[in-house]
Order: sequence, then C-alpha cells, then structure tokens
Amino acid sequence: MKELSYTTLDGRDARLNASKLEALAAGIRGGIVTADSDGYDAARKVWNGMADRRPAVIARCLNAQDARTALSFAREHQMRLTVRGGGHHIAGNSVADGALVIDQSAQRSVRIDPLQRTARVAPGALLGDFDREAQAFGLATPLGINSTTGVAGLCLGGGFGWLTRKYGMTIDNLISADIVTADGRQSVVSATQEPDLFWAIRGGGGNFGVVTSFEFKLHPVGPEVYSGLVVYPLEQADGVLRAWRAFTRTAPLELNVWAVLRKAPPLPFLPASIHGRNVVILAVVYAGDADAGERAAAPVLGFGTPAGSHLGRNPYAAFQAAFDPLLAPGARNYWKSHNLAQVSDGLLEVVVAAAAAAPGPECEVFLAQLGGAMAAVPATDTAYAGRDANFVMNVHGRWQSAADDAQGRDWARSLYRAAAPHSTGGGYVNFFTEDEGERVAQAYGGNYGRLQAIKQRVDPDNLFRINLNVPPAAAKRAA
Ligand SMILES: Cc1cc2nc3c(=O)[nH]c(=O)nc-3n(C[C@H](O)[C@H](O)[C@H](O)COP(=O)(O)OP(=O)(O)OC[C@H]3O[C@@H](n4cnc5c(N)ncnc54)[C@H](O)[C@@H]3O)c2cc1C
Repeated sequence: MKELSYTTLDGRDARLNASKLEALAAGIRGGIVTADSDGYDAARKVWNGMADRRPAVIARCLNAQDARTALSFAREHQMRLTVRGGGHHIAGNSVADGALVIDQSAQRSVRIDPLQRTARVAPGALLGDFDREAQAFGLATPLGINSTTGVAGLCLGGGFGWLTRKYGMTIDNLISADIVTADGRQSVVSATQEPDLFWAIRGGGGNFGVVTSFEFKLHPVGPEVYSGLVVYPLEQADGVLRAWRAFTRTAPLELNVWAVLRKAPPLPFLPASIHGRNVVILAVVYAGDADAGERAAAPVLGFGTPAGSHLGRNPYAAFQAAFDPLLAPGARNYWKSHNLAQVSDGLLEVVVAAAAAAPGPECEVFLAQLGGAMAAVPATDTAYAGRDANFVMNVHGRWQSAADDAQGRDWARSLYRAAAPHSTGGGYVNFFTEDEGERVAQAYGGNYGRLQAIKQRVDPDNLFRINLNVPPAAAKRAA
C-alpha cells in the first residue's frame, strides 16, 4: 500500500504512511479502497453524477466495529470524514475530496419480525431491499418513492412517501437506532434510552454519529395497492391542477396524488403523439383496501381530458420502483425545493410557466401531497420541523452533459426564486444541494437551538461536518 495525502478537518494537506494504512485495512473487515486500488472509481461514485469527488480512503465497513475503527482512525488523524448509506443524497456528501469515507453500502440486510411487526435494517439497505422483505409479510413502513434510495440517509433526514399521510414520516416509525458517536461510544437510542439523541437523529441528518442499525415499526400494506398514473397535456394544467388542489383538501389519508410536470416519457399507455410533449402526470397511490382506492381515486380521471391513464391494482413493491427508470443514477442533477403550506394560484402560475420552459426532457417539477399523519405530530417532537408542509415542491433539474450545467441550474434557481413567496420558508435537508448550507437553520426552525446544544454535547469538534451541517452551539458563540 502506498503513502497518500489526505485533507484534515481544517482543510490542510497531510500524509498517511503505508504502515498506518495497512493497519487500518487490517482492522476493517471489508478492507479499504484508495486511489491505487482496483474498483476505486466505482466505489467513489454516487447517485448524482455532478458529485465527482476523490476520497483519500474508502473504508468498506461490514459491521459496527468496522465503523468504530474507521471513525477512531479519522479522529486520530483529524481527517475529513463522510458517511455513506445508499449514496443518493443530491449534495453528494457521502463522498468528499481527501476524506475518509465510512462506507456502509454493502450492509443491506433487512430482518422482519411479522408478529411484532418490526424491521431490523442494516445501514446500507436500499428502499427496495426493505420493501421486498417487508412485503413478503404484507407489511411496510413509510419510505421514499425511488427504490434505489438508501434507508439510512432518508430516515435520518426525515423521510416521506406514499404511506406518509396515513402512517407518518419514516422517523415517526423509527423505534430505535444503534449509533457510534464522535467519541467512539456505541449506544442504542430510543424514546427511553438517550431520548435527546434519539430526538436529534430523527431529522438531524448525519450530524450526530454513525448509525449502524435501525429498528422500525411496520403496518399492513398491500401486497397490492390501487395505484398508477393519469396524464394530462400541459395545456390543461390550469384546470387540472386547480381540480387536483381542491380534491386534495378532502382526500382520505390513504389517498396520495402527487403532480409531476415534465415532458412525457414514452410510456406504453400513452399515444406516441404525446411522447416528449409537456404534460402533468398525476401519480396515485391508495394505501388501503384496493376497491376503496378505486372509488376514492376515480375523480382524478375527470380533472380534464386525459392523454392516457394506467390505474389499477399493482404490487406495492413494484409501484415503489415505478419512478426508478426516470431517476437512474449517473445523470447530472441539481435540485431546488420549497415547503408549502398550501398550493396558491400564484405558485401554480410560476410552476406551469417553468415546466413549459424546462431546458431538457429529464427536468421536472414534483408537487408532493403530504399532511395527514405527518402533520399530526407536533413540530417539536422530532428534529424534523417542517410538519406544516402540506405539500413539498421539488424542482429536479436533470441532464446528461456538463455543458448543460449552467442552463439547468439557472432554470431550477429561477423557479425556486419565483416560488419563494408562496412557500413556508422552511425546507427539507434531504433535498438540499451542497450550496444550500445557509438554509439548514431555517429548515430546523425552532428546533435548531436544541440541535446545536446536542451537537455540542456529542460532537463538540464537529467531526461530522460534511453534511447539511448543524455546528455545535459553542461554534455559534465563537462566530
Ligand atoms: C431520486 C431520488 C428520489 C428521492 N425521493 C425521496 C422521497 O420520496 N422521499 C424522501 O423523503 N426523500 C427522497 N429523496 C431524498 C433522500 O431521502 C436523500 O437523498 C437521502 O439522504 C438518501 O439517503 P442515502 O443513504 O441514499 O444517501 P447518502 O448520500 O449515502 O447519505 C446522505 C447523508 O446521510 C448521512 N448518512 C447516511 N448514512 C448514515 C448513517 N448510517 N449514519 C449517519 N449518517 C448517515 C450522511 O451525512 C450522508 O452524507 C430522494 C433522493 C433521490 C436522489
């Protein structure tokens, strides 16, 4: 193993000699990967192709002890440190130049206890891994809408999807977690054990330690759910989106209808004449009895004259992967998002105009319908504070070539600015790009002070800083 350079916490260059690296490699069951290793380029790749980072050392952690060993090595050498789950975060913070990566992505086991209705989930499990195991028993917990997302990052930032209106956020279903804190101490946190830290990791992201195992509660779901898509030409957007908005006000908690504005993909149920044209896609999932779902969702077909629709009983786990082809890894992605209390007329105007001007076929605007069980939890019960977001707007700028970066970013930013007066001002750290660190305090709102105090107690040196960072309270005073 060759000597290599790395970046210290305060941004200086430093060197690691071969014997130190060999000792580290011997202590990590999955071994380490450096720039000289085969597989380095594959190991440093994350979902967002724009995050092209060159870590110094990737520690392939296969258990909690590996994570502790890697963490203590990083602390001893004052190395920049990142933690990787599914590698999906838009900011790409699970890898960083010159850093040591605690890479838990190989740990994908999910164990279901169907009698207790709980799941024990390893920190590299993807949503698809979780759904596949839980659905074998007709069970599920609220997760996101893209099956290749990591459970770890999704949960630590909050987590919402098709089951959220009925069963709450992912964090609302977290029973306990095993965590290694910056001092190397390993503990189990729950509502009764270290409740402060348990509160902080439910929305506080990766700021407080390395989570090495998650325990969730489960609910009966599917295995078939009434679900599908109804597609309208963008020319009808005015009427369709107003009808959708009115419909969401009285929709039962089981029913979720999210609006997606984009160019029509070549879906088999759409006429070829509409492929590539601007459309509004209403994505429907009923998290309950499928016959009741069919009745409840029927009005969605009458918001205008659909260009096509595909609604029916689908396996829940399959619908969880329905958007995967549009969100495949490797493309260049830049997002901008807002929390919305309501969808105002003004917001609809700016969103429809921006969708019509989208710079490429992969760019889209998502309007997710939330509320329900998510809103029923008081904002101070978990670190995640945006319980007033009955809707979330996410502008997905997405393209393939670096030459399109400026155009794509400008489009997303300009829609974000135009939509700002219609938002709550809050946000969701799981959707923030790397240049949105200044939004973190606002996202946590009244919970920010408590988060900083807990950070001061468990990570006073801010070892876990390559993330949507909550600096320790003392750092704030010093500044
Ligand atoms: C295509 C796509 C669709 C999405 N859809 C949804 C959605 O429907 N709903 C939703 O809520 N979110 C959604 N998200 C956002 C998603 O929740 C975040 O990207 C999340 O961070 C992904 O988790 P990960 O483990 O894959 O990410 P990673 O990039 O591996 O991790 C993100 C950050 O989490 C922290 N982290 C990860 N693992 C650990 C750990 N074990 N211990 C401590 N810290 C850790 C680190 O700080 C890391 O930088 C989506 C993202 C994408 C790209």
